[in-house]
Amino acid sequence: MTSTEALIAAADAHTPHTYHPLPVVIAGAEGAWMTDVAGRRYLDLLAGYSALNFGHRNPRLIAAAKAQLDRVTLTSRAFHHDRFGAFCEQLAELCGMELVLPMNTGAEAVETALKTARKWGYRVKGVPDGRAKIVVAGNNFHGRTTTIVGFSTDPEARADFGPYTPGFEIVPYGDLTAMRAAVSENTVAVLLEPIQGEAGVLVPPAGYLAGVRELTRERNVLFVADEIQSGLGRTGRTFACEHEGVVPDMYVLGKALGGGVVPVSAVVSSAEVLGVFRPGEHGSTFGGNPLACAVALEVIAMLRTGEYQARAAELGEHLHGELRQLKDTGRVTAVRGRGLWAGVDVAPAVGTGREVSERLMERGVLVKDTHGSTIRIAPPLMIGQEDLDWGLAGLRAVLGA
Ligand code: PLP
Repeated sequence: MTSTEALIAAADAHTPHTYHPLPVVIAGAEGAWMTDVAGRRYLDLLAGYSALNFGHRNPRLIAAAKAQLDRVTLTSRAFHHDRFGAFCEQLAELCGMELVLPMNTGAEAVETALKTARKWGYRVKGVPDGRAKIVVAGNNFHGRTTTIVGFSTDPEARADFGPYTPGFEIVPYGDLTAMRAAVSENTVAVLLEPIQGEAGVLVPPAGYLAGVRELTRERNVLFVADEIQSGLGRTGRTFACEHEGVVPDMYVLGKALGGGVVPVSAVVSSAEVLGVFRPGEHGSTFGGNPLACAVALEVIAMLRTGEYQARAAELGEHLHGELRQLKDTGRVTAVRGRGLWAGVDVAPAVGTGREVSERLMERGVLVKDTHGSTIRIAPPLMIGQEDLDWGLAGLRAVLGA
């Protein structure tokens, strides 16, 4: 068998270094566990950045995919297929909305949301042509396209990719006064992550999302919630917006919608908003394909039971209780999050986030650092409490807590 080192060297030689992965080469996975090429097992506390909310190779999702592989996988949207209507209907129902526009990746869905908001602004709100403005938050992460990185505040994500798309205004996350000042008559949308994942699992101050909802309603502005990472069970509710009793005008979904099996994303909204599109104005060859719809339909059915949300809420309480104790040791400086989702800032004396992640890897626990000193914890929602506790014991050990 080819060694870990040789496999990493082959990858390093033939792909640009847009990522800095931990030095582990995965060859198999099941549930909350992964196995590397040398046969070592690792507990997955990252879950594909929340794409694997239902665990690796969830049997229901694999069965749905296999059944669909034996029937039809792709038609393009030139023709109808028999899974499409059910997918759109059931996802709309899960979201309490009316229309679904499917895409593949998260960034594509965000782009779709931006295009929708602009078109709605011109056609429905009556914004003068070319003047539409969208307000976004500092420290956002919405993907990697040229338009999206143009309104990123992260120099690594943004530098050298200009010229940037105009029409965006950035305000500090969590600051309702700044948001109020930024919204003008030409504002068509506010785009926000209800909890900022890539920024380090930042939960906004209580009342912020509800305040944004009130402001956007008053000013006839669309509230677009990017729930690509926060949605579909992760925080203990189907959507993170629910924690503040907020229903946005548009959900942007991705990651877990494809069950970690296929890329599936979507924009979900009202008929007034998504109804602005006419044939030829937007599309994707793979968006809403039969395989994607078959897997996503199973994901939706699993979410409709409420089982995963309840599990994330219950185990999340336990996780945050344990992490609070870690904070008391002084080995971590801050702990944030909601449900089965946490950002843990490691004290400088302990080492960098990368060092902690590597030491955890040696112990058979996989997490990933972000922004230097933060470790993100986001296990599959079906993880057993014993496994989670074992992973947390590993974290305690490497932190010297
Ligand atoms: N939006 C949010 C909130 C995300 O967390 C991500 C990915 O991490 C994206 C958008 C982009 O998704 P993708 O990587 O599928 O393009």
